[in-house]
Amino acid sequence: MPIRSVNPYNNQLLKTFDELSDEQLDSLVVRAYAAYEDWRRLDYSKRSEVLKKVASEMRSKRDQLARISTEEMGKRFGESKGELALSVKIIEYYAENGEKFLEPQKISVKYGEAEVRNEPIGPLLGVMPWNFPYYQVVRFAAPNLMAGNVVLIKHASNVPQTAVSIEELFRAAGAEEGIYTNLLVKGSRVDRVIDNPMIAGVSLTGSVEAGRAIAARAGEKLKKVVLELGGSDPFIVLEDANLDKAVDYAVFSRMLNTGQQCTAAKRFIVSQKVADKFLSAFSEKLQSLQPGDPMDDKTTLAPLCSEEQANKLLEQIDQAVSSGAKVYTGGKRIKGAFIEPTILTDVKSDSPAYKEEFFGPVALYFTAQDDDEAIALANDSPFGLGGSVFTENPERAKRIASAIQSGMVFVNHPTLSSPELPFGGVKNSGFGRELSSLGITEFVNKKLIRLASVNDPL
Ligand code: NAP
Repeated sequence: MPIRSVNPYNNQLLKTFDELSDEQLDSLVVRAYAAYEDWRRLDYSKRSEVLKKVASEMRSKRDQLARISTEEMGKRFGESKGELALSVKIIEYYAENGEKFLEPQKISVKYGEAEVRNEPIGPLLGVMPWNFPYYQVVRFAAPNLMAGNVVLIKHASNVPQTAVSIEELFRAAGAEEGIYTNLLVKGSRVDRVIDNPMIAGVSLTGSVEAGRAIAARAGEKLKKVVLELGGSDPFIVLEDANLDKAVDYAVFSRMLNTGQQCTAAKRFIVSQKVADKFLSAFSEKLQSLQPGDPMDDKTTLAPLCSEEQANKLLEQIDQAVSSGAKVYTGGKRIKGAFIEPTILTDVKSDSPAYKEEFFGPVALYFTAQDDDEAIALANDSPFGLGGSVFTENPERAKRIASAIQSGMVFVNHPTLSSPELPFGGVKNSGFGRELSSLGITEFVNKKLIRLASVNDPL
């Protein structure tokens, strides 16, 4: 079966692509390794120049690129344009700051000199998801290219046109072939690339299942891995919160990209004192969203990325209900890949839904008597990616934020990504960090150089 690009809004087949053969795959890795030999020797300023050109290409082609991803994964056009603007910022951020982040660090020693240098390690494989198909790639590729590594991207099989368009940006920017390589293959072919001795490391953004498979394979080959996996972020609203704002952010955070976001708020934990008020306002706003063509600016509810994804979500809702949960709002298919925004209450702690990620517009709703119960509910999850706390009391916010087991906590704000903020999780949400100064040091050899004279003591 070829790789297919299908518009989830109307199920129309847009384009098909043949997968690369094993021989083509192997020769692209060889080409990437050859490019790496030149690229790693370039000055930072030269690498920065290439990245800035890529950013400029991306900025000038924003609408054209946004249309490609909207048409093949269903995101609202305005959101696709926003994703591209963020992607440009990330590339420019690393082009500007990469050298500074990787400066050698001097270590004070009794005699002679010592320093730690950050050296590239080689071609890296990035396995990417479809939900933010430009942003996910860029946050892996930009820092690693700045560090002197080269990247090969195996993008999700439902966004092949987006995948090809990113590679074309590098070509248009005049980057040497092999610096950035798109691998048109399905997930089942990833092992071959991981096994290739020229590949120095692997980064996956995707599901827990894919994370387990990729980490196991890379572990067998002793290759460094970064995993950005799923999440079921808590969104805690305390009785002293600005409730109107909290409701607006709850809708924003649950519904961005039609709920298909790793750091979307997925479990709403609300103080009993304001629970009824919050729930009815949240539900009313969710119900007001209007399904339609994601290319139309008036549309406020887009389809999921495919009918298959919608079927999976409906099955999860049904399972939750059959194990005791109640549907407060929504719960049904509108048509095709469109699902009603849904709130589930009374989700039992021994039901699968309690521990699962709902990758779509489904909110799990809980109430808490006090802060300790809110924290306990927040932490009773296999995931630990982001999380939010809404309160007007900063001390209370800090206490709760430090008790939450996750990689990121935002106070009075939804969990959002920005170039300068480290991004990543704990528990089943993965390990390693992307973005900020941390994201550029995951795949570097932190090499010690110790200078002494032969007459120095041992
Ligand atoms: P997915 O099914 O895991 O796919 C992600 C990528 O992994 C795709 O390129 C896929 O290829 C590949 N893949 C899947 N199984 C594989 C395997 N066994 N071996 C090698 N490669 C494999 O995830 P998804 O449905 O696209 O994305 C949704 C998930 O990603 C959610 O859990 C979400 O929370 C998570 N996510 C996390 C972050 C983060 O930063 N933490 C960000 C976004 C999304 P094919 O498409 O060819 O199958």
